[in-house]
Amino acid sequence: MKTDVQVAVIGGGIVGASVLYWLARLGLTDTLLIERRELTSGSTWHAAGNTTYFGPYAQMTRLFAGSIATYLQAETDSGQSVGFHQTGSLRVATTPRERELYQQYAETYKALDIPYHVVENEDIERLNPCVNTSGLFGAAQTPTDGHVDPVGATNACAAAARQLGATVMRHTPVQALKQESGSWLLDTEQGQIRAQQVVVAASFWTRELLAPLGINTPLYATEHHEFITGGVDTIAALPNEVPAIRDSFVSCSVRQEANGFLFGIYETEPEFWSLDGVPKEFSEELLPPNTDRLTPHLERLMERMPAIADAGIKTINNGPMCWTPDGLPLLGPLPDYDGLWLASGFNVGIGTGGGSAEFLAKWMVEGQPPYALPSVHADRFGNDMTQEAAVESIKACYRRGYTLPDKIH
Ligand SMILES: Cc1cc2nc3c(=O)[nH]c(=O)nc-3n(C[C@H](O)[C@H](O)[C@H](O)COP(=O)(O)OP(=O)(O)OC[C@H]3O[C@@H](n4cnc5c(N)ncnc54)[C@H](O)[C@@H]3O)c2cc1C
Repeated sequence: MKTDVQVAVIGGGIVGASVLYWLARLGLTDTLLIERRELTSGSTWHAAGNTTYFGPYAQMTRLFAGSIATYLQAETDSGQSVGFHQTGSLRVATTPRERELYQQYAETYKALDIPYHVVENEDIERLNPCVNTSGLFGAAQTPTDGHVDPVGATNACAAAARQLGATVMRHTPVQALKQESGSWLLDTEQGQIRAQQVVVAASFWTRELLAPLGINTPLYATEHHEFITGGVDTIAALPNEVPAIRDSFVSCSVRQEANGFLFGIYETEPEFWSLDGVPKEFSEELLPPNTDRLTPHLERLMERMPAIADAGIKTINNGPMCWTPDGLPLLGPLPDYDGLWLASGFNVGIGTGGGSAEFLAKWMVEGQPPYALPSVHADRFGNDMTQEAAVESIKACYRRGYTLPDKIH
């Protein structure tokens, strides 16, 4: 067992594995990823894998674009498929104002060299004949994004990092973390590990892991449901997979899964999961479905895509999803704790994990962030936020769903 490393990464979800891979790509291979159970044992294994490029903030879009690029490179390096389906996405405009905002974003995509178009209702119908476009004002199309297999992508990053010299240790919960003589000591059942630097990529476990150090990370998990439908004849008859649809009125994203659909809802009244701490007995299991509060959204979805009502629901997955009070991850150093870095708090960790890992690893190796992105800095909430305040902010974020900010920052 490795007991003395330059960098220890705690947590083997998509984020931790991507960080390990990016550090290795930048030449830092005296590294150890430590995972409590198996890789992907947090939220990653049950994620839908959606990786869109669409977003109102240009710099965040770089994280999204960097993610698909990271996973595809890891696939090439490791030979492990990441299951990328390049379906493209349509963000439908449910109001004239949304369409206007989509038109404004075009400049950003041009600067980032990402294909992007504002399209008409006829285009939506041609691309996805199951969408009822009445009342829509076209859509923003990002034709080169899609979805990946989150388990495949995590394993590809870990395997590619290992090939470059990094080490992965599974079934090793980090029990405690302390600073001693300029380095970090990690207690595990198998013994103590010394690291010069630590990256905490432990999602909703991070809050409790860091609390004994006096660090208050406002990270809490909500429930999040995804549904898989039965087959749809119109879809089965098509030669290509249809693009994913995102809709602020329904507050839902829908992508093709086999010959049916997979959709996830951001409901108006979200439920929190285990606010007072992750239960010791929690492994990685799903939570019992609790769908009554989703009914108004389901009704709107059936109007938008009547084929879903006909196909029926085959599977419901309810899983914990990690949130920060503004919905953006905590990424970067904690300045009062030399050598301690956070990569936690991801609610779209598949969509942004690979690009975030690139951002963080470059910051660690080169001594400064590769570009300005203060909106994700790990210390931005200070240390004093109460649970009540964090929960209220997270609720507001969650229920905002796909509603866009009126101003671009
Ligand atoms: C139903 C559902 C659908 C989703 N769909 C999407 C989607 O389509 N696209 C998208 O981008 N996101 C999606 N998400 C969100 C996505 O799953 C998460 O953002 C992402 O998986 C977070 O990755 P992570 O690596 O930060 O955390 P996790 O995957 O939770 O990984 C954290 C890891 O840390 C480990 N760990 C914790 N504590 C310790 C410790 N003390 N010692 C060692 N290891 C530890 C855990 O075992 C775990 O493996 C979805 C979420 C849900 C619930």
